[in-house]
Amino acid sequence: MEDKPLPNVFFHFRFKFLAVTAIAFLFYIILTGASEIEKFADSPQFKLMGPFFIFSGILFLLFRKVPIKCPHCHKIVSTKKDWTCPNCGKSQGKERILADKCLHCRQVPDIASCTHCKKEFRL
Ligand SMILES: [Zn+2]
Ligand SMILES: [Zn+2]
Repeated sequence: MEDKPLPNVFFHFRFKFLAVTAIAFLFYIILTGASEIEKFADSPQFKLMGPFFIFSGILFLLFRKVPIKCPHCHKIVSTKKDWTCPNCGKSQGKERILADKCLHCRQVPDIASCTHCKKEFRL
C-alpha cells in the first residue's frame, strides 16, 4: 500500500493567515505611527486599530464556522461535529469546532475525517 500524504484542506491556514495579517498591521502601526504618545493617539493609524481588531475578531469567529470541502468527495463538511482526536483517539462526546483543543489531551487536531465518505484529510 502506498503511503500517500493526506490531502490538505488548509483549515488551520485560515487562522495563520489572519495572525500574519494582524502582525503585519501592528508593524505598520509601529513603523509609520508618531513616536510621541499624544500625537500617536490623534494619528489615523491609531484610529484604524479599533476597526481593524474588531474586523479581525469577526473574521476569526467566521473562519471557525465556515465549512470545509472534503478533498475526496467534494461534499461540504461542517467544522462543528463530534470529532475523534487524532492524537489520543478519543471522541469529544459533544459537538465541538475543529479549531478547538481536544477535551482529553489538549491538542489541536491536525487530521479530520469526512462525515460523508469517512476518508481522512489534513486540516
Ligand atoms: Zn486528544
Ligand atoms: Zn468526503
